[in-house]
Amino acid sequence: MMDDAPSRNIVVLGATGSIGRSALDVIAASGGLLRPYALTAHQRLDELAALAARLRPRFAIATTPDAPRPAGLPAETIWRTGPHAMLEVVQHEDVDTVLAAIVGRAGLEGTRAAIEAGKRVALANKETLVIAGPLMMALAAERHAELIPVDSEHSAVFQAALAGRRDEIERVVLTASGGPFRSLSTEELRHVTIDQALAHPTWNMGPKITVDSATMMNKALEIIEARWLFDLSPDQISVAVHPESIVHSMVEFVDGAVLAQLSPPDMRLPIQYALTYPQRRPSPARRLDWDLPWKLHFEPVDRTRFPAVDLGMQVARDGGTAGAVLNAANEQAVARFLDGTLGFHQIVPACRAILEQHDFDPEPTWNDLLTLDQWARQEMAAWNSAS
Ligand code: NAD
Ligand code: MG
Repeated sequence: MMDDAPSRNIVVLGATGSIGRSALDVIAASGGLLRPYALTAHQRLDELAALAARLRPRFAIATTPDAPRPAGLPAETIWRTGPHAMLEVVQHEDVDTVLAAIVGRAGLEGTRAAIEAGKRVALANKETLVIAGPLMMALAAERHAELIPVDSEHSAVFQAALAGRRDEIERVVLTASGGPFRSLSTEELRHVTIDQALAHPTWNMGPKITVDSATMMNKALEIIEARWLFDLSPDQISVAVHPESIVHSMVEFVDGAVLAQLSPPDMRLPIQYALTYPQRRPSPARRLDWDLPWKLHFEPVDRTRFPAVDLGMQVARDGGTAGAVLNAANEQAVARFLDGTLGFHQIVPACRAILEQHDFDPEPTWNDLLTLDQWARQEMAAWNSAS
């Protein structure tokens, strides 16, 4: 180890996912600073066992109830099953940091339990803040839980913001790759296939966020995430399309200075920063090669072809129940797109329609949000794609 910083016990929620696996790389390369306390997975439990064989965590947890102990699990790793086992381990006094890397609404309870127990939360699961931003942020303040972003844009804002005071920030500029369909016409967008939507030009991610990137709903969710995480007003948030995914986002200060964070598109950097902050340490992430010539491009979002961005802005302004409805409608729409029952171009308009139909409440409780989550999913499941 390069210093004598105390080691930290980490729980990786969603260890078999794209973020989870990158996190395990970071943990394995940390020279003992980061210790894998528990790994969770929902499916592919043999993969979980293989990861546990490599990392040797104290616990391996299947969030699916009653899953049998996989054969490859190391003898010293304790096997637990069911959502309750996950919540219990997250709150254990030996745990320092919880990496919230479950995808979608399914990540809400684990993230909330970690915040409740006052842990540091390295937050990849942006859906949590989209659904319940104000409640989550209030809970984090009450429990003195640190919420450190893993999402590359928010990590970049978090890093760049350190160059000034909070009240010196004029706005943040979230960058967006534009996804695989950046240059397609509205007509061409009607005919894109599942395989095309799953082939992201710069990032290798799980299927749900990959489809979100193609519709640019991912940027909508990130606008809402930034609004709550950094307590910004929505008009302090701009979006710029940047196809190379090297400038991960920017902070513009009141004097006009713009600070950016640059690195190749590799999530191991923001994951490690969230785990070791305020320290910076050598990381396994790829480096920019300054001996090569390269160019960076920026362009405005085409809001006609990608209406998700304005929808995200609107939901960030409305607050209340709007985020929970948008998130649930979108999760269900992506599931329908991936099983072939909803067209790509219908995802965003259907989300907007369901949002407009819902019974808006400016100050919902947790229960109100969960009820609306179910409602929005049912509405989207029943959505007539022929209309
Ligand atoms: P993924 O699909 O690759 O992995 C999801 C993980 O969640 C898996 O370990 C899976 O077992 C677990 N999971 C799925 N359903 C579950 C359920 N019902 N209960 C418990 N666990 C469940 O997803 P990912 O791409 O790693 O994304 C994870 C989160 O990180 C998402 O919220 C995404 O928006 C965010 N994120 C991802 C990236 C990226 O590069 N992949 C970048 C920024 C933010
Ligand atoms: Mg992102």
